[in-house]
Amino acid sequence: MIDAPGHDCPDCPRLVEFRHRNRAAFPDFHNAPVPSFGSEDARLLIVGLAPGLKGANRTGRPFTGDYAGDLLYATLGAFGFARGTYTQRPDDGLQLVGCRIVNAVRCVPPENKPTPAEIRTCNRFLAAELAGLPKLAAILALGRIAHDASLRALGLKLSRFAFGHGAEHDLGDGRMLFDSYHCSRYNTNTGVLTPEMFRAVFARIRARLRS
Ligand code: SF4
Repeated sequence: MIDAPGHDCPDCPRLVEFRHRNRAAFPDFHNAPVPSFGSEDARLLIVGLAPGLKGANRTGRPFTGDYAGDLLYATLGAFGFARGTYTQRPDDGLQLVGCRIVNAVRCVPPENKPTPAEIRTCNRFLAAELAGLPKLAAILALGRIAHDASLRALGLKLSRFAFGHGAEHDLGDGRMLFDSYHCSRYNTNTGVLTPEMFRAVFARIRARLRS
């Protein structure tokens, strides 16, 4: 069993305060740390940034209910990492195949921006994920914060591995770290990340996991 935060994790005061406000404003939302999605047999771990207020913070499943999930789950399905139909609901029956999804920060931050202290505080849960997946061969970091948080959770020096969209880093222990720009609506609307660019990253990961 991988160590994960409790429903009322008290460790980030600003996020706890935001959680309480959201519980009052949106009583039907999940409004708690969002657990990982996928099996502990996963060979691929996808690391996002943090739950979106009306996405994962609402539904309780990473990347579920907002635009970022539309692109991510469509791409996972296209490369055989997901089975079923994604319908933006946590009860849609979608299953991940050899893949698991987690956020670097488990609680929704105001304006989608966790502070450096919050990222550091939640890092122990990411470290527990990475240590608790015995078959893990590849990590996909969605954005620079996820990249840095993954390295920190693995105890690796950030200066040795520069973030870059499409970059691949040999972590020296048989595992690879892949980087992509985050699949947020902002990045796709502005053309920073196109679906083709995103698919190209997954094509490399799929090829790597076959070898
Ligand atoms: S972000 Fe992580 S460490 Fe901070 S309160 Fe939420 S679960 Fe706890």
